[in-house]
Amino acid sequence: MNSDRQQEPDYRPETNAIRIRTPRTAEKEHSSPLYLTSSFCYDDAEEMRAAFADEIDANIYSRFSNPTADEFVKRMCSLEGAEAGYATASGMSAVFSAFMALLKTGDHLLSGNAIFGSTHTVISKYLPKWGIESTYFDLNHPELLESLIRPNTRMIFLETPSNPGLDIIDLEKVSAVAQKHGIILCVDNCFASPALQQPIRQGADLVLHSATKWIDGQGRVLGGIVLGREALVHEIYLFCRSTGPAISPFNAWLLSRSLETLHVRMERHSQNALRLAQALQGNPQLTSVRYPFLESHPQYEIARRQMSAGGGIVCFDLKGGVEQGRRFLDALKLLSLTANLGDTRSIASHPSSTTHAKLSEEERQAVGITPGLIRISVGLEAFEDILQDIVQALEASAG
Ligand SMILES: *Cc1c(COP(=O)(O)O)cnc(C)c1O
Repeated sequence: MNSDRQQEPDYRPETNAIRIRTPRTAEKEHSSPLYLTSSFCYDDAEEMRAAFADEIDANIYSRFSNPTADEFVKRMCSLEGAEAGYATASGMSAVFSAFMALLKTGDHLLSGNAIFGSTHTVISKYLPKWGIESTYFDLNHPELLESLIRPNTRMIFLETPSNPGLDIIDLEKVSAVAQKHGIILCVDNCFASPALQQPIRQGADLVLHSATKWIDGQGRVLGGIVLGREALVHEIYLFCRSTGPAISPFNAWLLSRSLETLHVRMERHSQNALRLAQALQGNPQLTSVRYPFLESHPQYEIARRQMSAGGGIVCFDLKGGVEQGRRFLDALKLLSLTANLGDTRSIASHPSSTTHAKLSEEERQAVGITPGLIRISVGLEAFEDILQDIVQALEASAG
């Protein structure tokens, strides 16, 4: 865990994301070094004893802490406005560690219904093994949230914008409810990234990320992070230090470099995505286009209030349903067919025949996944090339 804010100079988060770094070594390198080491040495027995007794602030073993991982965590703390953080091997290990460290048998978790598939599996298949109960609330009816709170509700978990439906939930309203009842609010901020939205500033206690997506931004490495209140992050750190989901220093080093371009990248991803959403509105092959910064989005006002741009994901619904969805993917020439999102390369996916194929039709309907729903992760290629490929594939896939 890293909570050392002392070294942090008084700059804006986007400057800190570039300038916070491990102390310069005797080599006087300009870019940060990579500490690819499993453990750390001591000058003598006394120093080693003091390190293990937590009397001095020294690295011991990279499952506990590592200077390269700490650099990534400090940059992320600055971006999210968090007191402390711990970086993990993947987004899922961040989710799982937060649940395991903070929930116990008999506790109740209240989760948004539109969440990442593996998070859904953890909540519905694994948490019951430890006697942790859960209820899903409808992101489109946040007014019902309070009525679902039980005396044993310990955490509210949600994603905004959600995947893949791009529902937006009012973070200030939810955090007011959580605070009133003394419940931890934990937000998966993966889809917005801290460049566009900082849930802690709106009252969340914890924020977590799959750094694999926009934070890496180039589809190279897995990574995750949990950030927030120091006391909560400390519990998560103690759990991780004993159970081992630590991030690789190599991945942390790459992710730290990626943070240096996060703001510029998210600005361009969002710009390309908004232009794409606007250009596709009214296309004869589509029944709808969804993007948080389109005025037609049902939660447009909330999105404008809590996000500085709409993000890089655009969804649309094909008139021809599942079959047209498959034909559309086959007709694409530039866009990649791959499971990832948040890459420089634009990606198309068809949730009902892939990521959400195992759900029943009713379950898909409940989270807004229609048979013809296509999700585009808008990349950094020239906008005209992205648009042209999608428009030609829409024409080619027409029934
Ligand atoms: C991908 C993703 C995760 C899981 O992250 P991994 O790095 O793949 O383990 C969690 N939440 C959201 C919203 C995601 O998109």
